[in-house]
Amino acid sequence: MDNRIIVTYGENVRKIVRDVLEKADFNGMIPSNSNIGIKPNLVVSKPSSSGATTSPEMVSALIEYLKEHGHNNIVILESSWLGDSTTRAFKVCGYEDVSQKYGVPLFDIKKDTYSVRTYKGTDIAVSDKVLGLDFLINMPVLKGHCQTYITCALKNLKGCIPDREKRRFHTMGLHRPIAYLNKIIKSDFILVDGLCGDLDFEEGGNPVKMNRIICGTDPVLIDSYVAAVMGYKPEDIEYIKTAAEIGVGSCDIKNAEVIVIDKDTSLAAPPASRKVQQLAEYIDEKEACSACYGNLIQALARLNEKGLLKGFKKKSIKIGQGYKDCNLDGIGVGICTSGLGRNVKGCPPSTGEILEFLKNTGVGSKDK
Ligand code: SF4
Repeated sequence: MDNRIIVTYGENVRKIVRDVLEKADFNGMIPSNSNIGIKPNLVVSKPSSSGATTSPEMVSALIEYLKEHGHNNIVILESSWLGDSTTRAFKVCGYEDVSQKYGVPLFDIKKDTYSVRTYKGTDIAVSDKVLGLDFLINMPVLKGHCQTYITCALKNLKGCIPDREKRRFHTMGLHRPIAYLNKIIKSDFILVDGLCGDLDFEEGGNPVKMNRIICGTDPVLIDSYVAAVMGYKPEDIEYIKTAAEIGVGSCDIKNAEVIVIDKDTSLAAPPASRKVQQLAEYIDEKEACSACYGNLIQALARLNEKGLLKGFKKKSIKIGQGYKDCNLDGIGVGICTSGLGRNVKGCPPSTGEILEFLKNTGVGSKDK
């Protein structure tokens, strides 16, 4: 496990997946003749454009890379959440096509046998298929969660246990069993789909286009970075804190080596869901890049949760390349708006930076 987090942005999914894998020297990590498992997040039967599930295009690019490097013993495995069928999710999310095209089997963990593993006196039943893998590639989606704030690499392993265990995890408060599960099952590599994630819900519905992918080998560090991307501190998320305490990985993002390969150049698309549209009403956008716009939407969502958004006027936060060289009074996000009276630099600024900046403007303070 190392402390690198590799990030890139873009719309050419195949290219950006290849870029991060090459930068990570991914092939060098995989022992020859490995039995490789790819664990996407297919929590529900909804396409990846909903913000809920892992992009099949990303998985295709990963399989192409693996095959080119002589790795042919690959399986895609998943168990959708309670009440949904993994078989249906494989079909609706485009994985049947991926399976056929590349000759990679799909495995429904709901139909597996399970073995009990114990950590700190807590028994957890785990998929035998997952336990039999030599190399596990964890492919979560960067998204919000109504109970745990974020869901990414650590929580994605919940798809490796039987449904009865998923129910029990909720009775145990989710956080501790998620951390313990990651002590039992090791993610050898994490490739995060941050192309289009949901703001609040793991089942999608409020997709935010973010055009980014992130990879690394430490699931705690990856989740800590993602928490920051979404405007939280790692220690705000209890299962990240617990996972770090029990040695699954490190939550020290300040000392992580974050390697950004390419910046985003694609323009932001109109917001899709009602909730994102409501947040977007505060934004005055001219040619903003998707990643920049996505970070601002996430920051506004966090501000709204704290009751600090109401003080801002509609269309008062400016963002985008259309503001380059404009000298105006107002509030701006990103280096392009440097000519505005108040501005947060960065290209793109992170959600945390935008959040701090907007809070410090004092505009949204509760007594207004
Ligand atoms: S600061 Fe400007 S160029 Fe940089 S990401 Fe934001 S909109 Fe794009």
